[in-house]
Amino acid sequence: MSKPIQKVCVIGAGTMGAGIAAQVANAGVPVLLLDIVPKQGNNRNAIAEGAVARMLKTEPAPFMSKSAAKLVETGNIEDHLEKVAECDWIIEAVIERLDIKQGLYEKLEALKQPGCAVSSNTSTIPLANLVEGRSDAFKADFLITHFFNPPRYMRLMEIVTGPATDAGVADKVEQFADVALGKTVVAAKDTPGFIANRIGTLWIQLGLNAAFDMGLSVELADAVAGKPMGVPKTGIFGLVDLVGIDLMPHLQASLTSTLPKDDPYQAIAREIPLIEKMIADGYTGRKGKGGFYRLNKEKGRQKEVIDLVSGEYHAAARPAGPRGAAAKGDLRKLVETKGDIGAYAWAILGGTLAYAASLVPEAADDVVAIDDTMKLGYNWKHGPFEMIDKLGAAYLAKRLEAEGKPVPEILKIAGERSFYRIEDGKRQFLGLDGEYHDVVRAEGVLSLADIKLASKPIIKNASAALWDIGEGVVCLEFTGKMNALDGEVMKLIVKALPIVQAQYKAMVVYNDGANFSAGANLGLAMFAVNIAAYSEIEKLVAGGQMAYKGLKYAPFPVVGAPAGMALGGGCEILLHCDAIQAHAELYTGLVECGVGLVPGWGGNGEMLERARNARGMPKGPMPPVGKVFETVSTATVSKSAAQAKEMLFLRPDDGVTMNRDRVLYDARQKALAMVEGYTPPEAPEFKLPGDTGRVGLSLAAQGFHKRGLATDYDLVVSDALAEVLTGGDADLVDTVSEQELLKLERDAFMKLVRSPRSIARVEHMLETGKPLRN
Ligand code: NAD
Repeated sequence: MSKPIQKVCVIGAGTMGAGIAAQVANAGVPVLLLDIVPKQGNNRNAIAEGAVARMLKTEPAPFMSKSAAKLVETGNIEDHLEKVAECDWIIEAVIERLDIKQGLYEKLEALKQPGCAVSSNTSTIPLANLVEGRSDAFKADFLITHFFNPPRYMRLMEIVTGPATDAGVADKVEQFADVALGKTVVAAKDTPGFIANRIGTLWIQLGLNAAFDMGLSVELADAVAGKPMGVPKTGIFGLVDLVGIDLMPHLQASLTSTLPKDDPYQAIAREIPLIEKMIADGYTGRKGKGGFYRLNKEKGRQKEVIDLVSGEYHAAARPAGPRGAAAKGDLRKLVETKGDIGAYAWAILGGTLAYAASLVPEAADDVVAIDDTMKLGYNWKHGPFEMIDKLGAAYLAKRLEAEGKPVPEILKIAGERSFYRIEDGKRQFLGLDGEYHDVVRAEGVLSLADIKLASKPIIKNASAALWDIGEGVVCLEFTGKMNALDGEVMKLIVKALPIVQAQYKAMVVYNDGANFSAGANLGLAMFAVNIAAYSEIEKLVAGGQMAYKGLKYAPFPVVGAPAGMALGGGCEILLHCDAIQAHAELYTGLVECGVGLVPGWGGNGEMLERARNARGMPKGPMPPVGKVFETVSTATVSKSAAQAKEMLFLRPDDGVTMNRDRVLYDARQKALAMVEGYTPPEAPEFKLPGDTGRVGLSLAAQGFHKRGLATDYDLVVSDALAEVLTGGDADLVDTVSEQELLKLERDAFMKLVRSPRSIARVEHMLETGKPLRN
């Protein structure tokens, strides 16, 4: 067994190399980033150094925290290449030229340690060509690891091994990419474009061809080949604008030169005169002067779209796209819609799904690999085989046959059957052998979706459910729209507490959603405000406080396991957990002030406690209060779990899981590790600065107001927050109990929620999803 990966080298500090290096650093692993010596200037490391400096300013950020950047050591390939001897994995991400890549490997062969993996990030060059001329030992350590752009955010990594690749080396890289870098690793064969770009490029080409041939408007094309198909709403033209129109001819040239002559892609690849003209004129998409869409600055950034026939821009219109079920994922209805909509949908789906079906086993071993790839590499909601199931495999085969097109083998094997089924509570897929096989999860992956297929909840209501996730641990799941929190969630928590105490060991708060929770159900709160049912609102606030404190003081460990957004009340429940095991992509914060309110479910006291105990916090009652006031009054939200630690939403020893699929398992392990000898925390007593402190915070807020950074109403809201955080009219010598602080919190919340300007903020948020700066 070769040495585990403790240090990585990335060669090539361009778009991909720099982003991959940042993700290695995000995992807490030191990384050496090398590029060539620039032709001009004295700084021989300028390219790699410049890449790191640029990434610190890029949004969305490649680094999860500024401190991660310190793990990147920069250099150049002339002075520092021998340092690869310190590394356990060398990732080559230099420009896509075979001669340059081969020349680099020759040098690496002389310098690297045996067993140190070398992988290429190539998108198009076959592995067999890359290793030409290299020794057997080098070939054993060599593979392709194909990341997607941007490497931090795109979860897919295709891995390609050659006949000589050592299984142990490939396994080591795969494990690291999965656990440390958080990637879903899909094994692809050494075929052109691997899986994602091969299917994706054909899909795009089919969409372009059909829209030009049918003379469709760009808006209609994207309205069909977007949301209704479960693919991002950019559609095909919007996607090409995003990735760069000039990339298309390169992808096309690479695939036409490497794919066999009888590959279906060869028949559809073609040059489109308007696209060539756009590239020549600098209309290369969002990075250029504009693309199929553009914002016309002379007309107040009006959204315009190009006419595919005349090549002229005109104001973008809202097309009459698919309706009803056809708009909502019923693919059969979509392709059978009369007129252009159905014809366009079929042209794309018929061709793409048939192509994907023809690639098992040529490009991937099974249907699951293809589906995972397209979902993660192209952000499709459903993979091609899941789409075929929606359409019907037999239906697809029949329509292909009727058009005189070849029917892929795997469709014949499926016949009237589907590619996926649920059997005995297990998800299964259809193999090439005509049998169904269980979809197997990797060790360390626990899926709530799997558990839900195989069992019934312990208890549930309209907004939450409690599941037995094995080993004596339960999972509290939010189930409402956007996982919003309401009285039902609180009721379920209260009901769950004695059940867990009597029959289980620990609780995890987790759900499979893209976002843990958007916070309190504001729509419901506004409904109560509109009928002046203030006592109902107060009940909801008090009920939430009681439920969250119930979790905090329960005689068993509670571990929060959030991923994505955890805002407002979603952040507050985490603050009440004994520990957190978060996904690295955690966007959490107490955002109540943004909607003219203050945290009302115990968040203030929990934050004060954390701030008081934070490392380096000066003694005395004021510094922690000042810190919490700053974070909460500005509705600060973390952009990663690492940042959430810096902002004190997480504790220093809370766990972070890089791979989304591993969060629940890791959280369960964390909870189990806490069971023995578990004692609930003691209720804190707060020493708060009282009136003098409140005046200080108020003055600070006024300073912001004078500089135009806070509105008039921001001052009202932040004063209410200051009153809670400083302990109301508490005197410095008094201590404030947790219950007293909760009362202050409730009072402040109830005062604000009646104010027309707070109501205007909430309504604006509900309508637009954006804060109102009144
Ligand atoms: P890029 O042009 O942004 O960066 C390439 C870098 O390689 C440049 O910084 C260049 O200075 C450097 N370089 C050139 N010759 C070198 C040498 N001899 N030694 C060291 N560095 C050298 O390119 P990119 O988009 O980051 O692509 C890099 C690789 O990743 C290519 O193989 C590409 O096919 C692949 N890829 C790209 C994407 C993408 O979306 N851009 C996605 C997946 C894979």
